[in-house]
Amino acid sequence: MVVLPSPETPGKFIYIQRMQDAHLHLTRLPHASEIAGYLKSVTGYSMVSSACTREEWSALEKLLEINSENLFPAFGIHPEAAARDQNFEAELRRLLEKYPEARVGECGLDKRYPGYEAGGLQEKILKPQIRLAAEYKRPLVIHIVGDYRRIFEILSECGFPSPEVPVIFHRFGGDAEILTRIQEIQGMVSVHRSSLQKESTRNALKKAGKISVCYETDADENFIATHFDRIPTAPEILKKLQETLKETEKEFARL
Ligand SMILES: [Zn+2]
Repeated sequence: MVVLPSPETPGKFIYIQRMQDAHLHLTRLPHASEIAGYLKSVTGYSMVSSACTREEWSALEKLLEINSENLFPAFGIHPEAAARDQNFEAELRRLLEKYPEARVGECGLDKRYPGYEAGGLQEKILKPQIRLAAEYKRPLVIHIVGDYRRIFEILSECGFPSPEVPVIFHRFGGDAEILTRIQEIQGMVSVHRSSLQKESTRNALKKAGKISVCYETDADENFIATHFDRIPTAPEILKKLQETLKETEKEFARL
């Protein structure tokens, strides 16, 4: 039903190895630097940490000084930060040049925040990020809460699909129609536990033909609040992250 490309898939950015957390926010977890250091000793497991504001970009750079082995960066401006982080292109370029393995994102549209309207501020900061991903040939991590169709329009306006730039739909929550469109542009879906709780998304994934899938915890400060009633230690957090990722994979396999 679902084809999971092997880690040997050509193109070093298409990480489909089983134990990769394709999306979390390490900079927003307690003991982040300790976790980054500890992670190095865990074989067969890696993380892509998404930094969503310029402030988080600097925090993530510090973590990459500790671990550049199995911790990978994604730099973007989240639609929530559209109003305060408009001046970012030069810095994003610098980061993409410094970190050849960095992804662009998460970026996108979110109806819960200001500037969501057509032609609004969110689109204004999204387009340059899409163009930079295309220019540097980096995977593009899309965050969308709202109308998926607008993303496809914007992508095509920016010259997508591009065979060299995978588009990853983070925390996928679309239905069968959206999934078909993702397949048409050879995009990837990043599956979070919440993706599997939504009936239309479950059904779409169940019936999907060939599709590239990765898994994520999207862990941030809320992950800690959900799973612990105190501040956990770095190893405890790492263990919970791995467990959550494994459960998501298992649940997906049961579809
Ligand atoms: Zn996220």
